[in-house]
Amino acid sequence: MYDADLAPDDALLKSLRAMPKVVLHDHLDGGLRVLTLMELLRQRGLALPAPDAAGVQAWFQQRAHAGSLTAYLEGFALTIAAMATPQALERVAFEAAEDAHADGAVLAEFRIAPLLFERHGLSGDAVLEALLDGLARSALQSGLIVCSMRELPPSESERAVRLALRWQGRGVVGFDLAGAELGHPPAEHAGALALARDAGLPLTLHAGEADGAARVLEAVRLGARRIGHGLRLAEAIGDPSRSHWVDDVKASGVHLEVCPTSNVHTGAAGSVALHPIKLLWRAGVSLSFHTDNRLISCITHTGEAVRLVREAGFEPADLAQMTLHAVQHSFLPESAREHALAQVRAWIAEDAG
Ligand SMILES: [Zn+2]
Repeated sequence: MYDADLAPDDALLKSLRAMPKVVLHDHLDGGLRVLTLMELLRQRGLALPAPDAAGVQAWFQQRAHAGSLTAYLEGFALTIAAMATPQALERVAFEAAEDAHADGAVLAEFRIAPLLFERHGLSGDAVLEALLDGLARSALQSGLIVCSMRELPPSESERAVRLALRWQGRGVVGFDLAGAELGHPPAEHAGALALARDAGLPLTLHAGEADGAARVLEAVRLGARRIGHGLRLAEAIGDPSRSHWVDDVKASGVHLEVCPTSNVHTGAAGSVALHPIKLLWRAGVSLSFHTDNRLISCITHTGEAVRLVREAGFEPADLAQMTLHAVQHSFLPESAREHALAQVRAWIAEDAG
């Protein structure tokens, strides 16, 4: 049902599905199965946006193609309401891990903002417990990143960090600022970010998506080890006044989690063919490709890989190299990373042979 532009028997789709993948940027509340969402809405007595699965998917497609991050984020109110029981959260997390596994993932980090469920009567701790139970039920090695919504007051981010720290070492592997980027620079939440950093909780921050390249550097200065999107860093390439920015980002060792289709849907990029991922990759920036929100954008990780090959002109070998970078920048424990690394290397050796 996802990747509607690709035929199910597409040869490239089949071969790239077998390529080992590392999920670093996937929002659980943006990645439910359509049928699960419908079932959960019915169970909770909530209205469905359309009577059948095709209609529900079309509803999301409409929002995805609205061309703005704010319109894109609208679908989340629906998914969060549907997921707001411990059983639903456990199920959604389990299914996300299973779907990633079936799509070739060998390692995965999922993310969500647990405090958004408080308005539905669930504590942040109850949310994390249910999600981590769901992830643990799958054979896929995975972890959870706690997000805070950047448009909320900084005190909320501090509360989200304290929650994340209570679950650090029990499945929570990182902290992120998500939500409407424009007007809410990461420095607004410097206190929360320092709290996470000082406790050794790795940071990945959404930056350089709806706002410019300077936000990527700001996030790096605040201690981010990875950046969600970061595509607008490409604006500094070829600009004499900002030419050292890309070198600064490279020297920092930061890794970009680029989500091409999502960037097209939010208006951050014109098309996958025109997406600056190619410029950034050629400039030597460490990056990998991700889906962001599988349900909202109606895509899979494999579908994203197919588009990068077919529309952006990458070779499958480039994508495998990106995956090596992704493994090296994962926040999961070394034993999990070593295992994934071996699988990616084996695929590369086989492919090259
Ligand atoms: Zn995201």
